[in-house]
Amino acid sequence: MYEDLRSFTKYYDERGEVKYYETQLSTNLEIAREIFYNDEGDILFFKRVKNYKLPVVANVLARRSRLLFALKSKSNAEAYTRLLEASRNPLTLREKDDAPFLECSAKDLRALPILKHFSADGGPYITSGIVVAKDVDEDIYNASFHRLQVIDPQHLVIRVVPRHLYTMMRKAWDKGKDLEIAIVLGVSPTVMIAAAASPPYGIFELEVANRILEGSLEGFRSPNGIIVPRMTEIVIQGRILRETFHNEGPFVDITGTYDIVRKQPVVEVEKVYLRENAWYEALLPSGSEHRLLMGFEREARIWDTVRRVVPRVKAVRLTKGGCGWLHCVISLKKQSEGDAKNAILAAFAAHPSLKLVIVVDEDIDVENPMEVEWALATRFQASKDLIIINNVRGSSLDPSADQETLLTSKMGIDATRSLFKSKDKFERVKP
Ligand code: MN
Repeated sequence: MYEDLRSFTKYYDERGEVKYYETQLSTNLEIAREIFYNDEGDILFFKRVKNYKLPVVANVLARRSRLLFALKSKSNAEAYTRLLEASRNPLTLREKDDAPFLECSAKDLRALPILKHFSADGGPYITSGIVVAKDVDEDIYNASFHRLQVIDPQHLVIRVVPRHLYTMMRKAWDKGKDLEIAIVLGVSPTVMIAAAASPPYGIFELEVANRILEGSLEGFRSPNGIIVPRMTEIVIQGRILRETFHNEGPFVDITGTYDIVRKQPVVEVEKVYLRENAWYEALLPSGSEHRLLMGFEREARIWDTVRRVVPRVKAVRLTKGGCGWLHCVISLKKQSEGDAKNAILAAFAAHPSLKLVIVVDEDIDVENPMEVEWALATRFQASKDLIIINNVRGSSLDPSADQETLLTSKMGIDATRSLFKSKDKFERVKP
């Protein structure tokens, strides 16, 4: 029912969760600033953009409640289950032979209101772009988020970490070919969540989204043979040029700090397809939508893995202060002494980028940093409840990790009360 961006936004508009801007704002820092100051807030709709015809929509999944709704779930646990199960049971898209984005076209990127987010950024960046590609040898597709920096109206430089798109790119290059891609912008929020997840190579993220949407996501085969969601606002058709590199960055990543400049592959834009009055979707780097999209599937994996080693996990949260990526709080019902430490080890195994895990009892709200600290103050002794693991691989995003080796130290804190001592001693008194 809400399988595209417009119907999803309309649903929230009817509930007063869309904020409209009538004032004209610029793509150069002004729109990004509004998104920054509406972190975790309403969906933002910028009707008038200086020098551009298209409106800009942002913050679509900036709030957890909207992300749960996009996963057709009422609780985090239900959403984790739905996402993990869909990743194991993808559903092929029904293809149609027309799509609204064929209504208009442009020859280059000048038609699009691409934002510059922060003043020291290397340039304007497409940040909500999902890159869809096909393996040159096999009938395997992939859809994943990549930041794309504009170098000129016909070229982008794409950050490609060594994962699935990288594999497809290398395979094409080894055969002496460019890699054909379709960059989709403005899709169903469910597609965004699936594209931000990391199912194994060979599982097509659009088919994961289609499973969650119970088969209602329609596909369209774009002119270069790549399947894209039919109800996409904008499709950029292009190719990752063989062995062609350009400086990428500086760019602010999920930590809110600047990532380093690297040589990355260049994308040549062939054609831009767009709906009449297309919406351009923006996504603020380091904002709550970025954290939720990147972190939610990891939260699901941590929940699923910890659940296998301890009897009852109440909640898992990648915290805001931990950039939605590096720090995790887990609340559980302890049955044996040692459960919390096993949970810590399981969490580190489930999400290798984790740097800190805090385990608390069920009565502590993982969303409330004050309660978590209270548990540390009253239930934690560093001499026996602290685990430190040195010289392990961590996240390349952590500026404090050794930037050459990426080695880091990890810390686990067991802030659960002892089962051997009287429970009353650790209960919080209520009026
Ligand atoms: Mn993939």
